[in-house]
Amino acid sequence: MQYSQALLDDIRAAVDIVDLVGRFVNLRKAGSHWKGLCPFHAEKTPSFTVNPQKNIFHCFGCGVGGDAFGFVMRQDRLSFPEAVRALAKSAGIALPEERGSGAGNSGREELIRVMELAGRFYADTLWKPAGERARAYLEQRGIDIGIARSFGLGYAPEGWETLLTFMRAEKVAEEALIAAGLAVARENRAGAYDRFRGRLLFPIRDLQSRVVAFGGRGFGDEQPKYLNSPETPLYTKGNLLYAADLARTTIQSENRALLVEGYVDCIMAHQHGFTGTVAALGTAFTPAQLALLRRYCDEVVTFFDADAAGQKAAARAEELLEPTGRGMAWAVNRSGAFEGAGTLRVKVALLPAGHDPDTFLRSAGRAGFMERIAAARSILSYALDRALADPDGATGPRARTTAFARVALLLAKVADGDEAAALSREAATKLGVDPTQLWIEAQRLQSSLRTPPAQSQPAAPVSTPPVERDLVALLLHSSEARAALLGPLGETDEVGHASLRAIVEALRRRPDAPAESLMTDLPTDEARSVLSSLLVEDRESVDARVSIGQFQRRLERSQRLRRARELSQAIAETQAKTGVAAPMDAELRTLHKESAVVYEITGGVAQSLEHGTPTSSRSSDE
Ligand SMILES: [Zn+2]
Repeated sequence: MQYSQALLDDIRAAVDIVDLVGRFVNLRKAGSHWKGLCPFHAEKTPSFTVNPQKNIFHCFGCGVGGDAFGFVMRQDRLSFPEAVRALAKSAGIALPEERGSGAGNSGREELIRVMELAGRFYADTLWKPAGERARAYLEQRGIDIGIARSFGLGYAPEGWETLLTFMRAEKVAEEALIAAGLAVARENRAGAYDRFRGRLLFPIRDLQSRVVAFGGRGFGDEQPKYLNSPETPLYTKGNLLYAADLARTTIQSENRALLVEGYVDCIMAHQHGFTGTVAALGTAFTPAQLALLRRYCDEVVTFFDADAAGQKAAARAEELLEPTGRGMAWAVNRSGAFEGAGTLRVKVALLPAGHDPDTFLRSAGRAGFMERIAAARSILSYALDRALADPDGATGPRARTTAFARVALLLAKVADGDEAAALSREAATKLGVDPTQLWIEAQRLQSSLRTPPAQSQPAAPVSTPPVERDLVALLLHSSEARAALLGPLGETDEVGHASLRAIVEALRRRPDAPAESLMTDLPTDEARSVLSSLLVEDRESVDARVSIGQFQRRLERSQRLRRARELSQAIAETQAKTGVAAPMDAELRTLHKESAVVYEITGGVAQSLEHGTPTSSRSSDE
């Protein structure tokens, strides 16, 4: 089965490589990337890195590297198609063979088009006379027009076939509307009807801002109050966060996400300037959602009403700290994956009883909300309170001993060292013990919780010629360099190393592709490892323009040398044919003239060519 590049890119974008690798390797954040002990060779200091921006991993110790597919192939010893299937499944992306016959990838692309059309249709309707009721509702909830537009809010008009009629004109088949979850097939007769009728619609968009689902709110007594899109090939519940596409930049720059529950909570937070806010789109936060946030920040603040906070926070902390069922194929087991959440710190901001972010923002405003965020407390300290309290209400030395054990176990599961240290101090004071004691016990438990990673013999990292390596790195990092150098490169043998040449060939075939997506174009493990090593190198400081110029001159020179070699060869052959003494014929004269020009440009090299030995210039080609 040959998978299309678009599909592989989709899967790669949907998989969080930190989360994936984090299931097997204890990763710690180090600047913009993550580090841990290599699962593929034995080592004591971490040289295994994961770069979430480029979606790749690379080990500086053994040189192994690649993308998510490569990691699963190595870790679970899968073939490439098996790795694609495993990752697609966990990312909730349907593969062509699962989409029925002959559909190819067009099924998914058609659904994306249908959702986009629907999003536009509903949004347009909101601002037309038909949308009056929905606009009145927005006004009553205090949602500004500008915010409503940037969230793409829409209105699904009353009537059973409004969207169907619109889509018919757009030549969209009924089956596509049903597959997209926008229409429902009639039970007793042929045909379908609109799923959303008379509702305010909140489009749910993926990170690329493509509409993949809708949440629809009724205005009156309609049941249910919220009606959501069903799962489709584009939308898997629990994999997305509402407004993640809008909030991502702020989350990254503030290194913090605000997590709320409802659509309106989220919209109101944005309206009050809290643009790093996302909503969970469901009652519970899923591992996939937390993993998504962890790609962009180190801290998440969530909001609980004071009444429910203790209970909710404790439950969530339990989820967060649940160890994973290691050894099972991760693609199958996505539950309890919070451990991979690593150092993502989750804090709880308390709101007054009976309030949610929406109502609180409207009563206390931006300043009040900021105060609550500033006072947010680690979710772990809620868990700590719970670990300290005996569930049966017992007191005395025995209860204290079991509390000590529970706290030590809790600390053992906390991935972040600073946070664990702060918690152990807090717990030690409350328990009346020495923090070091707790700390030692926690560390002992931690090492017994950790499963030793599968190890094999380290391979030596592939060594590549430095100049060729620099050239390929430049091509990978700069589209300008690709435009300027890929053409001339084809006419030289400048890149001799097989893996580097494979990367150049892949670039020539898809010069517009993001560097990391070339991973699947490469024929060998070695080439993939070389690519990952080039991608993890920090070459930002290199001035691309200067390097391009240098390589351009280098390539021109080697092109000319090649031409000069060809010319002197041709001269030698012609002379051999006609005899040196014979008068120059036209062909020979042209060759001489051309080679003179080449000599002049090439400078010193002309010397060696004057002797007419076609091979003598080869050694000066450095
Ligand atoms: Zn390694």
